[in-house]
Amino acid sequence: MNFIFLGPPGAGKGSLAVKVAEDYKIPHISTGDIFRAAIKNQTELGKKVKAIIDSGALVSDDLTCELVKDRLSQPDTQNGFILDGYPRHMPQVVAIERTLEELNLKVDYAVLLNVEYDMALKRTLGRQICPQCKKTYNKLTGVNAPLVDGMCNDCKIPLTVRNDDNEETFKKGYESYLINCKPVIEYYRNKGILIELDSNGSALDTLNEFEEIIGSKND
Ligand code: AMP
Repeated sequence: MNFIFLGPPGAGKGSLAVKVAEDYKIPHISTGDIFRAAIKNQTELGKKVKAIIDSGALVSDDLTCELVKDRLSQPDTQNGFILDGYPRHMPQVVAIERTLEELNLKVDYAVLLNVEYDMALKRTLGRQICPQCKKTYNKLTGVNAPLVDGMCNDCKIPLTVRNDDNEETFKKGYESYLINCKPVIEYYRNKGILIELDSNGSALDTLNEFEEIIGSKND
């Protein structure tokens, strides 16, 4: 199945996507992750986008849409995919529709993760990631804290934080989401393929709700 995940920063799109990708054995394609990996590896793409990502602004559509098209053209998307963080505004919806048509693919469901502002902020500011196993923890939400402060439970190495996980970048991303993503949500609602999840609880609650809804639609 082919999914698009929508929601503000801190909604838990990445956490849900990792689990759904595992369950369905489909690739999790996060534009944000692709950009961050490029920055870490100091590729040409990384050098181009570093300042933009750090500021919380959006990378140009030319770059982003081309990158998504290349990724979706790879053979592992034939059994399904999750697009996380794309499309983020209407010009990207137009681009993805064109790309999907060219590749003979279609979106089955657009999954919107609804979360309150304060929870999204806590998730973002408290997020800690193991650089080795990539497991995500949170030191502010009261759930999913590491057993030893700042250390991965499994790998026993210090956790890291994302460069863009600060309040200023969060606010910019959240405001941009409110303005730009509204017509995207309405677009998928009008197509009859929008699924809305309550993402204020634990990652497991959101996953359970997701599975219930998808299960009931495909019975
Ligand atoms: P995310 O991990 O989805 O929060 O994305 C992190 C950052 O990557 C964003 O703040 C943008 O700078 C950039 N980015 C990710 N996805 C897109 C997109 N679809 N269009 C433009 N910029 C993006």
